[in-house]
Parts: sequence; structure tokens; C-alpha cells
Amino acid sequence: MQCDLCPVRCGVDREIRAGACGVKGISVAKAYLHPFEEPFLSPRQKSGTVFFAGCSLRCVFCQNFEVSRAEKGKPMTPAELGALFRSLEEAGAENIDLVTADHVIPYVAAALKLCRPKVPVVFNSGGYVTEEALGEIDPYIDVYLPDFKFADPFLAKKYTGREDYPAVARKAVSFMAKKEPVFADGQLIRGMAVRHLVLPSHTEDSKRVLDTIKELAGTDVPLSLMRQYTPMGDIEGFPELHRRVTDREYAKVLDYALALGFTNLFAQGAESADPAYIPDWDT
Ligand code: SF4
Repeated sequence: MQCDLCPVRCGVDREIRAGACGVKGISVAKAYLHPFEEPFLSPRQKSGTVFFAGCSLRCVFCQNFEVSRAEKGKPMTPAELGALFRSLEEAGAENIDLVTADHVIPYVAAALKLCRPKVPVVFNSGGYVTEEALGEIDPYIDVYLPDFKFADPFLAKKYTGREDYPAVARKAVSFMAKKEPVFADGQLIRGMAVRHLVLPSHTEDSKRVLDTIKELAGTDVPLSLMRQYTPMGDIEGFPELHRRVTDREYAKVLDYALALGFTNLFAQGAESADPAYIPDWDT
């Protein structure tokens, strides 16, 4: 069957060979109780995180480069993936956090159909996902956690090759924002939270991203303003990405978010930009 799941619509038969997202079928790079997710997602620091190999958005600076390029990963059937969800839950996971599952939605939906966790299921997305694909996974998802990476199509093309990223992400976030937010004991158990990674040299685009999030989801939406950018990946041709974000750059974006009126804002300290926070991949 020709795959047209994501906006790339490369049309390969995923049962036979890998698509532009880099994987044939579905492949898992790591699953564990991740202690570093935002407190509103896992207040007890036990996020049952599953990292999927491959990605249809090819960010040159990807902070999980080996995983997004599918250099790591173990193929799984939906039954095996369902068993993995169950084992994480039994180990005390306070959610099942599906990291970059945009390009494996039908496989994940099949696994969730077989094994429906009792804890919230979080769909952690790069934002490059169609409304049709989201419609397929939506019945199984409690919390959406999309990135909104770029507002400028030129910047999106420069760093990912996907000029349509801002337009696609707008539609995806509008879709996800329909889930009404519910908190229980400080944990977001239903709804949407948005992440934005502040990049060096691009604070003006970050501001436009914040304008867009406000327009689409209002200022009560939980917003995580990430400053963990660490130079890595395929950035040789992009000297502006060869350093971390400065205090001044991050403060500029944070001040703008506060001025826009975001009330559920999660900020990060400079110490977050450390490769120590990147997991060791299993396979
Ligand atoms: S999900 Fe992968 S195989 Fe399917 S259209 Fe997108 S890039 Fe191609």
C-alpha cells in the first residue's frame, strides 16, 4: 500500500521499504521512564517515554539525530508495542509519551487498540502531521504535545527542507487545540501543551511563533519555551547554529511570551543545554 500518511506523501510501500521518514514499518529506539519531561506532564518524573525511529521532518539540528535518521531502532509489531506500553505502566509510568509518532500513526493506533493504557497517552509531535492522520489517532490520545518550530517558510525550508511546515503546523495545532484541558494533581491529563525550541540567531522567528500559538490556542495553553538547544546534527553549512542560545536571546523570547500574556509558561535554565539530557539509545 502506498503511504501518504504525512505531508511528504512519498508513496512508498512501508511494508517493503523505508519512506522519506527513514523507516520501514515501525521501529522503536528507546522506551524507559524518562525523568526530564516538563513537570506538568510528569510531576513524579516518571514519563513512560517511547522514542520512535525516523521522522518525516529532517531538521538539520535535530537534538535526537541518530534516532530521527533511523540509525537506531528495533522493528516492532503492534502487539509488541502494546506489550511495551503495558510494561511501562506496570513499572510506574504516569503517562505513555509517544515521541515523534507522526510518521507511524497507523501502527501506534493498532497497538493502542490492542492495549489501552490507564494512564494518559501523550502524542508528542513535531507539528508536521496532517489533520487526516490526527483523526486516525485522536480517539486514543489524551494529551497533545506539538512542537511549533518555525513561523517563516523560508527558515523551515532552510533547516528542514519542508517549506510547508508553518502551514501544516498551524492546521495541526488548530486540530489539537480542540481537546479541552484538564489537570489533576498538577498533571495535564487531557488537552494540549505546546513546545517551542529557541534557536540561536532566530529570536524574531520565535516571536512570530508565539504570536501564532496565541492566535490558535490562546494564552492559557501550557507553553514550554525550551532553551536546551545544543549544536549537533548536520549543521556544518549553518555557522549560526554552531553555538548555544545566549541568556539575552532567551530572555528576549521569554519576555515577549510574558508580554503576550501566556499564563502557563514553563521556562528552562541555561543548564538544560547539555548533551547529558539526551538519552543513551538502546539499539
Ligand atoms: S510517513 Fe514516511 S513513508 Fe509515509 S508519506 Fe510520510 S515520509 Fe513517506
